[in-house]
Amino acid sequence: MERVARRARDSDTSATTTTSPARRDDSKSKAPSKKAPSQSHRAEPRKQGYGKRTIALVYDFDGTLCPRPMQEYAFLPKIGVDASAFWKESNRIALEQGADPLITYMHLLYKKAKAAGIRIDRQDLVEQGRQVELFPGVMTWFDEIDAHVRKLADAEDVVVRHYLISSGLAEIIEGTPIYNRFHNVFASEYWFEAYDLPYPKRVITDTGKTQYLFRINKGVENLAQSINQHMPEAVRPIPFSHMIYFGDGDTDVPSMAVMRKNGGHAISVHAPGKPKEKCIDLFKAGRCDFFAAADYRKGSELFVRTSLLLDRILADIRVEAEIWKLSRAIGSKDTK
Ligand SMILES: [Mg+2]
Repeated sequence: MERVARRARDSDTSATTTTSPARRDDSKSKAPSKKAPSQSHRAEPRKQGYGKRTIALVYDFDGTLCPRPMQEYAFLPKIGVDASAFWKESNRIALEQGADPLITYMHLLYKKAKAAGIRIDRQDLVEQGRQVELFPGVMTWFDEIDAHVRKLADAEDVVVRHYLISSGLAEIIEGTPIYNRFHNVFASEYWFEAYDLPYPKRVITDTGKTQYLFRINKGVENLAQSINQHMPEAVRPIPFSHMIYFGDGDTDVPSMAVMRKNGGHAISVHAPGKPKEKCIDLFKAGRCDFFAAADYRKGSELFVRTSLLLDRILADIRVEAEIWKLSRAIGSKDTK
């Protein structure tokens, strides 16, 4: 039931636009302006020499940052549909028709709305985002994590970015109060001008999520650009070893697998006070480094375990810098 889709923000309808959310100025964590537009962007290539290093924290949304699928907070109640019956029906149709479950749910949402005689447009979805509930501490997490890194690293040397990759709906995410905390948001999205029912414009499946991990890794966040061209590991702007992925269940397995197999990190979360069996399964299977309750407050187990991974990443960055300096020193000596 955690499975549904959502998408990313930015209503930009241009095909060359990304999904992206609010791009932020990395060097300062100032409060995001509500409008932050997101434009896809291309991370700068690693500079000659030892330039600034970027750490990326990448989050799933439903079940990871918020307790329930985002459509359950406003969309389904508004059209008078029971959430559990909706997902059951959607999954049944997908199974019977051999259809993609995410496309099926995106279609069924609007089919149900139409049957109820309720028109929900893009702006309505953004408004619905304001009703999405977040786990404890999510609102302060971003600043606290940034502050933790700042304590250990010079802002000139290291920057932290937060990314969201969700099968959910971009417009709903756009309405949440944390939307602008993300450097970029990749999520499923609708065309709103497609005949009388919105039509899926971008669908981000479980395995499809991994594409966006590589986009972050390679600095190719503009969806108009192909992600498939070869890029040597050494020139990728954000190595997987500098990335941490946060997810809550089976739908995150492909992303966690990509992270861990490429030297990256993953943390699995469960709702506070709720069963943690799924997390234990993921942990035992080596899908994640740690698991913890989705309590994002400073000092929580999740905060402490995330900080441990950040400390390791920062130590690696210092080691890499020292090696680079040493190599350079040897190089200049050899040329004499
Ligand atoms: Mg989830």
